[in-house]
Amino acid sequence: MRAKRSKKYRKLMHQYELTFGFREPYQVLVDSNFLHAVHSFKMDLIPALERTLQGKVKPLLTKCSLEAMMTSQPLNPRTNNPIRPEHLPPPTILPLRHCSHNEDSTPIDETACLLSLLSPSTDVKRNKEHYILATADPPGAEKAANSSANTNSSAGKKRKRGVDEGEVALQQSRSLRRAARAIPGVPIIYVKRSVMVLEPMSMPSEDIRDDVEKGKFRVGLNDEALKKKRDATGDANKKKKPLKKAKGPNPLSVKKPKKRVAEKAGPTKQEKLSKQPPNDGGDEGQERPEGGDSAAPKPKRRRRHNKGAKKDGDDGDHAPSTGAEGAASADMN
Ligand SMILES: [Zn+2]
Repeated sequence: MRAKRSKKYRKLMHQYELTFGFREPYQVLVDSNFLHAVHSFKMDLIPALERTLQGKVKPLLTKCSLEAMMTSQPLNPRTNNPIRPEHLPPPTILPLRHCSHNEDSTPIDETACLLSLLSPSTDVKRNKEHYILATADPPGAEKAANSSANTNSSAGKKRKRGVDEGEVALQQSRSLRRAARAIPGVPIIYVKRSVMVLEPMSMPSEDIRDDVEKGKFRVGLNDEALKKKRDATGDANKKKKPLKKAKGPNPLSVKKPKKRVAEKAGPTKQEKLSKQPPNDGGDEGQERPEGGDSAAPKPKRRRRHNKGAKKDGDDGDHAPSTGAEGAASADMN
């Protein structure tokens, strides 16, 4: 199961890389609910994120998220400062993301802060900084769910108030995720029952991905055009080689004239051969081919005979037929 899921997440992050330009280390904006859930399920923040995203991560906590965590903390009676929450990792593990939303740069609502970082421009929703959102249902919602699961009707006002608070917190966290899904190219991690989950691509993200895929197809066509050009240049390079090969047949064409010359000047050669008895006498093998050569023309002339016999009526005007007969007669002799 785990291997299957990790493969799925790796594939998903690869799509985010191809479509939206995500790169490792992935910048992960973690919110207060996420940190609470990670702590309550005794997860190790960075290893858990890296297992989920299948790559190196750089978690970040916005100033407004930190403020949200601190305001809910009881004050230290000595320093009168809020006690550092247990679920807040040290800055070495979780550095602060300095955000400024107003002139005083006073912290704003955590959800509004995160959404403004995920999509700085309200006109065009775009995750310019390639942030990943890591969130979770609020702990209040868990308690509410547990209490409702227990179905204690005798809980009274206290339980009711808890449910209301939990519901409000739950609605806020749900609205954060819903708004984050509306921004194309925002991977969303959330903790669900002690399991860190990477959400499938939202519809706006999928739409962009499909457009990019189409664009890739066009790019692919361009690539093919480039390949054709490369092939053309390759052909040009190859053409040089065939030219060299074309020079090869020339010797053959040179040989043919020799044969023709031999046929035409057969008698002279024979005369030459007759004039060169030592060579002939030295190589008996050469005499046999010569005999073969002399035998080879004979069938040709016989064919001419046949043709002439068949086409006597047609080739009646042809004087060569008589010449061929004469040649045949010469051969016969
Ligand atoms: Zn902020």
